[in-house]
Amino acid sequence: MQKKTIGALLAAIAIAAGVAVAPHGMARELPGAVAGAAAFDSLSDQFLDAYWRQDPEHAIQVGFYRYADRLPANDAATRAQRLAFVDHWLKRLRQVDARVLDAGRRTDLVLLENQLRSMRWYQTSFRSHEWNPSDYNVASGFARLLAADYAPLDARLATISTRLAAVPAYYAAAKRNIRRPTREHTELAIVQNQAALDVFGADLDRQLAASGLLPADKERFRRRTADARAAIADYVDFLKRIRQQADRDGARPFRIGKALYEQKFAYDIQSDMPAGELYRRALAEKERLHGLMDRLADELWPVYLAGQPKPQDRLQKIGSLIDRMSERHVSREAFLAEVRRQIPLLEKWVTDHDLLTLDPSRPLVVRATPAHERGVALASVDAPGPYDPTARTYYNVQPLDGMSDAEAESLLREYNEWILQILNAHEAVPGHYVQLLYANKSPSRIKTLFGNGAMIEGWAVYSERMMLESGYGGNTPEMWLMYAKWNLRVVCNAILDYRVHVLGMSREEATALLTREAFQSDAEAAGKWRRVSLTSVQLASYFTGYAEIYDFREQLRQAQGERFRLKEFHERFLGYGSAPVGMIKRLMAEQD
Ligand code: ZN
Ligand code: ZN
Repeated sequence: MQKKTIGALLAAIAIAAGVAVAPHGMARELPGAVAGAAAFDSLSDQFLDAYWRQDPEHAIQVGFYRYADRLPANDAATRAQRLAFVDHWLKRLRQVDARVLDAGRRTDLVLLENQLRSMRWYQTSFRSHEWNPSDYNVASGFARLLAADYAPLDARLATISTRLAAVPAYYAAAKRNIRRPTREHTELAIVQNQAALDVFGADLDRQLAASGLLPADKERFRRRTADARAAIADYVDFLKRIRQQADRDGARPFRIGKALYEQKFAYDIQSDMPAGELYRRALAEKERLHGLMDRLADELWPVYLAGQPKPQDRLQKIGSLIDRMSERHVSREAFLAEVRRQIPLLEKWVTDHDLLTLDPSRPLVVRATPAHERGVALASVDAPGPYDPTARTYYNVQPLDGMSDAEAESLLREYNEWILQILNAHEAVPGHYVQLLYANKSPSRIKTLFGNGAMIEGWAVYSERMMLESGYGGNTPEMWLMYAKWNLRVVCNAILDYRVHVLGMSREEATALLTREAFQSDAEAAGKWRRVSLTSVQLASYFTGYAEIYDFREQLRQAQGERFRLKEFHERFLGYGSAPVGMIKRLMAEQD
């Protein structure tokens, strides 16, 4: 009842605002739909402004600077305001009549509601502000304000000065909030906050001295910088004392446990599959991959290791073969050129094999990763942010020149002849870059900001297998064996995450899983252990999205039989933007 009244009200607003209304004789829903769209767009703009106001740090990270002079302390008043914000906006969103919205806006609406409920859950149930000291760090916001050219330096320094004044209260609140943190997050916070001091060092002094700020403003800026530095140093000392105390009395375990894991999984991933079911699905997938690799290894053994004794143990046999085959890789000098060479080949394959329609007007630019972004990922797609007017999408590939010979060799073996092709499919075509092309056709700030990570990563992982199934890479046993090894990483990430956080898996067991069953190096396994002890659910998101997309496709293929068209499936699936897979499934079913 209430919804109808609001629908009528929205229609009236739309007419008053001069929004086009359908002529007589057309479907009765149309005027409401147009009004609903305009009203929803205005509502989501208002929401975003309010959202950035209460989280200026996040706003700075996405390039929105209106509230950059604010740095709210996470104290009781701020937390009460955040809950009031959540309640207020959930109420306003509940008044939207979803039935008159198009699919793009309906998915935006669901993402916004999930974001708000998730904010409330993180604050009231997850409560990492009490046990994760690395939640507190002012460095990245200030660093971005100094580096981003959104305004002249003097204006940015004035903003920074106001923001600096809030740093002591920010860390005072942090110290009040922290109680019995985990050892792992305490260590991380000590390292990261110590590094944060660099942002307020000599470079900043030089920028200030060279600026056009008045002498009195410069003096005030220097005082505030000194106070900020003191507050950060004091926080680091505080954490070191906490660490000592933890050595005596014990720390909070980093494993979040079953109840929190399942809820976090629900908010972060928005999957139709419960976490436990996903875990069992991953275990079954690991077995399937091992079976496949066993057969392929028997086939390939005489080609690569003829005359050598073949181990009885299938995992040892597979491992030896992968080790030998990894010698086939490009030289370090040729790495970037090889990536560049492969992109047009992938595009041609996708077009020739009727997998997807591409858009040549939005080319992907392959480049060496800019210096300040190096050290995170070997390769990644760098898309313009929601507030970034430059529309270029880059494929960043890290140059190997800074590495020792041994480091480069290990990396090149990892990204050998076969895996490099799979990586390019994942990152570029038809993976992340192509998904982005489709998402940009119905531009939505909401989805760019709160889009579903499991869908995004799931698509990229799905597209690797889909390419191989279409015959890319020659359908050779080598390609499938290396693919299985690569895919085992995603599968074992999901297993590891659940087993560690919910079932209490030890470090020794985790290392055995990754090195023996997923053929990873000791260094890779150590890095993964660190990641699983600092994050939860994130490691499971890739496999969840992939499994859901793949299963969905197979269901449709079964149901549609002869009528099933792969290209049509892909294009429709991607047409909804970065929405949760389950929601896309329902929308596609509705429109059948
Ligand atoms: Zn080599
Ligand atoms: Zn990815």
